[in-house]
Amino acid sequence: MTVPSYPYEAPASQALFDRAAAVTPGGVNSPVRAFRAVGGTPRFMVSGSGPYLTDADGREYVDLVCSWGPMILGHGRPEVIAAVQDAVSRGTSFGTPGEGEVALAEEMVARVAPLEQVRLVSSGTEATMSAIRLARGFTRRAKVVKFAGCYHGHVDSLLAAAGSGVATFALPDTPGVTGAQAGDTIVLPYNDLDAVRAAFAAHPGEIACVITEASPGNMGVVPPLPGFNQGLKDLCAENGALYVSDEVMTGFRTSKAGWFGVDGVVPDLMTFGKVMGGGFPAAAFGGRADVMAHLAPAGPVYQAGTLSGNPVATAAGLAQLRLLDDAAYEKLADSSTRIQALIGDALNKEGVAHTVQKASNMFSVFFTDRPVHDYEDAKAAESFRYTAFFHSMLASGVYLPPSAFESWFLSTAHDERALERIADALPAAARAAAEATA
Ligand SMILES: *Cc1c(COP(=O)(O)O)cnc(C)c1O
Repeated sequence: MTVPSYPYEAPASQALFDRAAAVTPGGVNSPVRAFRAVGGTPRFMVSGSGPYLTDADGREYVDLVCSWGPMILGHGRPEVIAAVQDAVSRGTSFGTPGEGEVALAEEMVARVAPLEQVRLVSSGTEATMSAIRLARGFTRRAKVVKFAGCYHGHVDSLLAAAGSGVATFALPDTPGVTGAQAGDTIVLPYNDLDAVRAAFAAHPGEIACVITEASPGNMGVVPPLPGFNQGLKDLCAENGALYVSDEVMTGFRTSKAGWFGVDGVVPDLMTFGKVMGGGFPAAAFGGRADVMAHLAPAGPVYQAGTLSGNPVATAAGLAQLRLLDDAAYEKLADSSTRIQALIGDALNKEGVAHTVQKASNMFSVFFTDRPVHDYEDAKAAESFRYTAFFHSMLASGVYLPPSAFESWFLSTAHDERALERIADALPAAARAAAEATA
């Protein structure tokens, strides 16, 4: 099959981007979308179908971002659309309890053993923010340990040394976060239990919780070394702190029970988002019933939301989760393995030093020949090669994350045709990566 070759220009997207820039800072509503890390015109998408996205210029791309994870069944999956239409026909928001949110919570609790109680919110940021507040309220302690390169949303106290867009733009710290907020955050190198041990020793009785991505995907994919998560859990237990596992990205993606289903380490609190919303703003935090009992109105720690448990969002999320059976995860694993092999082959042929790292079906490519265990390793990779690789893939009709510090995401809709198009695009992209200069 022939590789579709698109001109670099994207006039309709550029026109929309210019309009956007007049009314929206940087022309986008979430920074990484602006393509600043890779340059060029961000593609404004107008529709999605299965594994494909179509942009304003009418070009089709194989989508390897999948809305940063949520579209795990591909775009426009009929059963999800039908559930949304059914919900919408009955109204879009009531501001009262409803059965849809109960059903979604039941489905989540049934899948994830440590999740005894769950509270629904509207974004992953809200989920981690609320989990941190609850951990502080429960332990009556102030400090939070996080890891460099882990991203937990744009929560003030968690933006220090964060991954995702903060990594993409190499922001040291962000103005607007006060010294007091940053001062209660202890940032440690990822995969380093000795550093965690030392932090507990240096701050006895002060650390409310350790929050970590269950398996980080916001500095590229950097899985926990064997025993790391269990070690965190044990250190928290020994020191009276809570272990908060952020599964906003990995939840219901890396297995039926998320990363918990992979490593079995039992957190005190967990956070979810992305896949559980089926492409709508729905997220959650939950965990131990005795901890969750401290949340209003059952307990004193306040947390609320006008659109929390929205009937349309919960219908989409529930429909999506119900379709995510063992066969779906097997399909994702198979496609993921095959694409990783294709990438490795293409880069090897061009002699490009690289490491493909994976966590279940999540994966990313680092342009270094050494394994990446933490944020320093990730930053040391030759990201300039990713820029060339990205633009070559885009020109061939494959949409990758517009930053080297992001996971690639697949859907169950990625079929033989989509994989063939990726395979056809890779040789030129590998050559572009080989020829790239810093
Ligand atoms: C995406 C993400 C968040 C933030 O979720 P939003 O819905 O974007 O606020 C938090 N934690 C992790 C691990 C994420 O990947």
